[in-house]
Amino acid sequence: MDGTSQNPLDQLIDELRKLPGIGRKTAQRLAFFLLKMPAEEARGLAQAVLDVKERLRFCRWCNNISEEEVCRFCADPMRDRTRILVVEETSILFAIERTGEYKGLYHVLVGSLSPLDGRGPADIKAQSLLDRLKLGETKEVIIATNPTIEGEATAIYLTRLIKPTGVKVTRIAYGIPVGMDLEYADEVTLIKSLEGRRELA
Ligand SMILES: [Zn+2]
Repeated sequence: MDGTSQNPLDQLIDELRKLPGIGRKTAQRLAFFLLKMPAEEARGLAQAVLDVKERLRFCRWCNNISEEEVCRFCADPMRDRTRILVVEETSILFAIERTGEYKGLYHVLVGSLSPLDGRGPADIKAQSLLDRLKLGETKEVIIATNPTIEGEATAIYLTRLIKPTGVKVTRIAYGIPVGMDLEYADEVTLIKSLEGRRELA
């Protein structure tokens, strides 16, 4: 494979390599696996990818992925509407939801601040969070961004943004190793980090 001729297999490998965490070798292994897959299964996979793009959208309130205009958490009258837990990505929302310990609302930033990579405030859904706070229901914003440089920068930025509104801002801290992606934290660690949240000055 010299990379200049784009036969279907090379093209598939190129597309797979765009996925996070997939290097050249893994992309090749997956491509050959797909090649050997029964046509019906391959079609099912392709259709699932298309369905995600065509049928899912972002919740108008919290940016969670949803089939409806408003996601099931925002639409649920049983959720505690006085709390909003802020995460970088939907995958972390699901990780926290799996613990069963959190009953409030969420807000997905769909990214984080990274001055080094040129990702600024306009690249995260922070303004829509402020708009939600203006509705006056929120008593506490729990910032659950990742314990990485980007996550910390985002937490500091959000705190400065939210403080003037008078809403309490807390940050989960307990038991999460620095540099770890929250998506991969186990449930006990996540519960502890929620319980151990501290107010941000
Ligand atoms: Zn929502």
